[in-house]
Amino acid sequence: MPDDCLFCRIVRGVVPATLVAKNDDCIAFRDVNPQAPTHILIVPREHISSLDAAKDPEMIGKVAFMAAELARAEGIATTGYRTVINTGADAGETVHHLHMHLLGGRVLKWPPG
Ligand code: 5GP
Ligand code: ZN
Repeated sequence: MPDDCLFCRIVRGVVPATLVAKNDDCIAFRDVNPQAPTHILIVPREHISSLDAAKDPEMIGKVAFMAAELARAEGIATTGYRTVINTGADAGETVHHLHMHLLGGRVLKWPPG
């Protein structure tokens, strides 16, 4: 757990966040700058710097499964939602600790910008 990683600090409870779910593998909290009525970040507790660095396919499944559970809990599973993992500079990744965005509650345009 690198000391200088923002999401590791949120996992440890050193930096506050609005938590919405947690289990042994992942935590989920609301994005500080929401881009949709529901905008939640799901992160593995373990520090994994990006999807490109992921070694454990099961971990990715656990993150995605929590996103689907939260979509149901937020009431957006029937209207629809988007899950996004930004990887690298061209995708706009800014926090280098693997995270999945869960976005919903409005119509989301495609293709993304
Ligand atoms: P990325 O651009 O790396 O895919 O997504 C990083 C996300 O983290 C952004 O949507 C940004 O708003 C969010 N974020 C950055 N700093 C914080 C913070 O301190 N707390 C929370 N809850 N979200 C943050
Ligand atoms: Zn980290």
